Amino acid sequence: TTTIQRYDAIKYKTPTGSQLSCKGWIQEAALRMLLNNLDPEVAERPDDLIVYGGRGKAARNFEALDNIIAALKVLENDESLLIQSGKPVGILKTHKDAPRVLISNSQLVPNWANWKHFEELEKKGLMMYGQMTAGSWIYIGSQGIVQGTYETYAAIADKHFGGSLKGTLNVTAGLGGMGGAQPLAITMNEGVALIAEVEEWRIDKRIETKYLDEKYTSIDEAINAAVHYRKEGIARSIGVVCNAIHLLDHLISRDIIPDTLTDQTSAHDPLIGYIPHTLSNQQANELREKDPDHYLQLSYESMYLHVQLMLQLMDQGAITFDYGNNIRARAKEQEERVVSNKLKVISETSNLERPSSDLQPTTYNFQPGRCFAFPGFVPAYIRPLFCLGKGPFRWAALSGDANDIAVTDELIMNMFPDNKGMIRWMNMAKEKIAFQGLPARICWLGQGEREKAGLAFNELVRTGKVKAPIVIGRDHLDTGSVASPNRETEAMLDGSDAVADWPILNALVNTAGGASWVSLHHGGGVGMGYSIHAGMVIVADGTTDAEERLKRVLRNDPGMGVIRHADAGYQLAQETLQANDLDFKERLK
Ligand code: NAD
Repeated sequence: TTTIQRYDAIKYKTPTGSQLSCKGWIQEAALRMLLNNLDPEVAERPDDLIVYGGRGKAARNFEALDNIIAALKVLENDESLLIQSGKPVGILKTHKDAPRVLISNSQLVPNWANWKHFEELEKKGLMMYGQMTAGSWIYIGSQGIVQGTYETYAAIADKHFGGSLKGTLNVTAGLGGMGGAQPLAITMNEGVALIAEVEEWRIDKRIETKYLDEKYTSIDEAINAAVHYRKEGIARSIGVVCNAIHLLDHLISRDIIPDTLTDQTSAHDPLIGYIPHTLSNQQANELREKDPDHYLQLSYESMYLHVQLMLQLMDQGAITFDYGNNIRARAKEQEERVVSNKLKVISETSNLERPSSDLQPTTYNFQPGRCFAFPGFVPAYIRPLFCLGKGPFRWAALSGDANDIAVTDELIMNMFPDNKGMIRWMNMAKEKIAFQGLPARICWLGQGEREKAGLAFNELVRTGKVKAPIVIGRDHLDTGSVASPNRETEAMLDGSDAVADWPILNALVNTAGGASWVSLHHGGGVGMGYSIHAGMVIVADGTTDAEERLKRVLRNDPGMGVIRHADAGYQLAQETLQANDLDFKERLK
């Protein structure tokens, strides 16, 4: 049979219900979650197998996808399928408690670990970019990130605005797979969101899925509306079709200072993910193909300007942070290339019509050496949660039945009545989150909690309270699974930011513990050369075997994070270590 080279909605439809098309529920879960990643409701660009995050893919090409599907269908319950950068390369004999799938994506030997070399390999069909949950088959649409983004904005609200973003203007850019969560996370915290996005269809998609409230094509009208909502204290989100740089430029010219400022364009990937302000979308697509080096030059110039404008607004009072796309490093790379202590006039660098004619060209005085003057969101807001072993616990109903998630929602809320933040989130999520693909839920749970939740889900399956097994996983952005010095491990207490033994140990221990599939990736979130991280997924199929595996994996996996942070010297993590019997030195006494 010839392989079709584009997404086929019938052929690749995610199976649902309680009938198996594979030889066991674990293989079946892998198959359903792989196809769910590519469901047009879930994936950003299914025709290119791109799930989210620039070019984060679920399979290397359509031939590889077809072979993975076929392999999962013949895979026995004592075998493991090997995936090398999105292509199946072997089925080997293991045992019933071993992962059914072992995945390694985008790994390069450190001296070759850059986009340039990756691109050469990708062109030859030898590699794909797995991002985080794209290549490890546990992406659940924008909901997956809404919770993390909600937590971050809630932490900002607590730290700076007395617990709520009511009456604040929150500016950012990018409404892609992850960035699309920003408007909802901000309005859930009662704030106003004003978001630049160059591609109109992305804005439309976020409105359709109820993540975003309003669309504007005029920057000034968008700003006017946002300022109005801020004044009235109305929680509302606005997407404006424009480049982030033009939005920031307008804010500066009009002397409107956001209360918070960040960015979620795909700056981690300067060629595919970031659109220079000097090009229209069509020009960008053409130039990227025709002259990638020229594109990269424009992209870097824009990202430098972008960070400089953020700094200018920060200096005027905007609470500014990097939201994990590595834009600060891109600006610094550019600064190192070009000594840029000269004045720049934004309108001169642009061959676009300046979006509003009544603005005078603004002069910006760039100060070199300040690209990292604003913090990343992890040290600023998330690390204390990591020290408690907390992270993005998520699950999906393999039945496809939304009622199964309602049953789990109920269970989780009854199980942890003291976790007030989680309960507040769950109530809002139930009301405001539209499912994409298989019904799924996420909430941040910590050491001890994840294990309890997993076992309880297994019991729901065993007793038939849900219609099919539940699959449990997490993002790679988690407490013990990632080394990423500009993001998750930025500014570690002991300076161990770039030590990547931890994610490797995480993948090994989850394999040893019997996770259902385990993945080890490079370059997720922040791009080639900047991160190494691991994922795990485990199936609660109601069996006693699953119960044993869940006990091990859901204790060890966050446990790695507690151990890692305790080892780095965080007091809170050391307490969590003690409280959860994770300190091996106690045994040596
Ligand atoms: P995506 O590629 O799906 O979306 C990026 C969006 O930015 C696209 O819609 C694109 O049109 C838009 N864009 C690009 N350049 C622009 C510009 N100059 N002005 C306005 N819009 C522009 O990516 P995503 O999945 O949304 O992820 C966005 C970034 O956030 C990535 O770098 C990703 O690695 C990072 N990220 C952060 C977290 C986190 O927790 N903070 C998690 C995952 C990903």
